[in-house]
Amino acid sequence: MSPAILNGEHAAPNGHSHTNGTHAIKEHASLDGFGTRAIHVGSEPDPSTSAVIPAISLSTTYKQHGVGNHKGFEYSRSGNPNRNALEATLAAIESGGAYALAFASGSSTTATVLQALGPDAHVVSVNDVYGGTFRYMTRVAAENQGLQTTFVDLENASDSEVLASFRPNTKLIWIETPTNPTLRLVDIARIASLAHSAPSKPLVLVDNTFLSPFYQSPLVLGADIVVHSLTKYVNGHSDVVMGALILPAHHAALAEKLRFLQNAVGSVPSAYDCWLAQRGVKTLHLRMKAHGANALAVARALQKSPHVEEVIYPGLTSHPRNDLAYRSLSSHARAYVDRFLKDHGDAAGGFPYGGMISFRIRGGAAEAEKFLTSTRLFTLAESLGGVESLAELPAQMTHGSIPPAERALLGIGDNLIRLSVGVEEEEDLVADVEQALEAAASLSRDL
Ligand SMILES: *Cc1c(COP(=O)(O)O)cnc(C)c1O
Repeated sequence: MSPAILNGEHAAPNGHSHTNGTHAIKEHASLDGFGTRAIHVGSEPDPSTSAVIPAISLSTTYKQHGVGNHKGFEYSRSGNPNRNALEATLAAIESGGAYALAFASGSSTTATVLQALGPDAHVVSVNDVYGGTFRYMTRVAAENQGLQTTFVDLENASDSEVLASFRPNTKLIWIETPTNPTLRLVDIARIASLAHSAPSKPLVLVDNTFLSPFYQSPLVLGADIVVHSLTKYVNGHSDVVMGALILPAHHAALAEKLRFLQNAVGSVPSAYDCWLAQRGVKTLHLRMKAHGANALAVARALQKSPHVEEVIYPGLTSHPRNDLAYRSLSSHARAYVDRFLKDHGDAAGGFPYGGMISFRIRGGAAEAEKFLTSTRLFTLAESLGGVESLAELPAQMTHGSIPPAERALLGIGDNLIRLSVGVEEEEDLVADVEQALEAAASLSRDL
């Protein structure tokens, strides 16, 4: 059976599917490419109206034709046609996925997974994990469920160092790769095989937000759970806050437990947001290719500039883990990247690998601020993953709550700028970055 349909059936306790497209979904999931699945799975024409685009189903409750006799929907927190449809799409595009569960935000997704671990569990987490994840682990779960977390540099730790961090009660390994904002890469396959050899059999979770299901398929690399902040690339238009979990077919019992918590905790997304996010998903493959090609061009322009100290983009051949970036590409991204390399050759200086770049501008906080207020197209703002380009200063914005000493250890200096490269025209973005660098450089000349 196709994994994608499992999700819909799972969400409908009586086994009724909310669409009549069962066979169509199976064929899409097994035969079709990424973009085809993103557009078709979960978006079958409505059986009652034949509408090609799903209606937004705002009803909170559903008529029963006899007690307990319904079409799989009883109350909208427990299941909603738009949420089920989006979950089916997500399960179909995250390779290796069978179950998907949508939540009201990436953060509530994280909270629900950690709650599922129960009392007094131990987690091993990548050291520069997303700030909100760090906050939930150390300030909420630590207090409410006795969660212990060991933060480990999972990029550089040796096998024995990773194994030494495991305890008898280690239930979860939390990986985020590339990390934020210094874009370090963790070898998911290596960490997963270490974790699965440990006596406590911890689950391996990957926060795949930065690369999206297009560039990286953690479940194929051995992970047990994928987390996304759909707020970023998956929705892609900076107008929805939402999160999701995706699990493989062999984790039916865990998916069931998380489904129970999704309903019991109730941090579920609205039907309208699910509809918007599903619309966003349909262009994910097109957007991710454009994000990647634009980011590579901007990274190359930054590399050539005398006003830049260091450029961090894992797709650049100069990135210390560029070979790992290539090795860990999803099969669909690999096909795109290989074609890109064939067309552009070594002159490209690397390959598209998502839309996030960090760089150190020559100078300090003043030059960084001048750059950030001189761009015309890159908007100075937090967040990432939308079609529009954004730029920010991690030391004072997204990572401002990290103590300065720790920030220094993580390499988050006052001159480190993070770019979320959008899908505008490549030459416009390159020109914008170049003129803003000149503006910042003229500031230091004036001083
Ligand atoms: C934004 C983000 C989150 C949190 O998601 P929200 O939707 O903002 O709650 C988690 N992980 C990563 C990597 C993120 O970028």
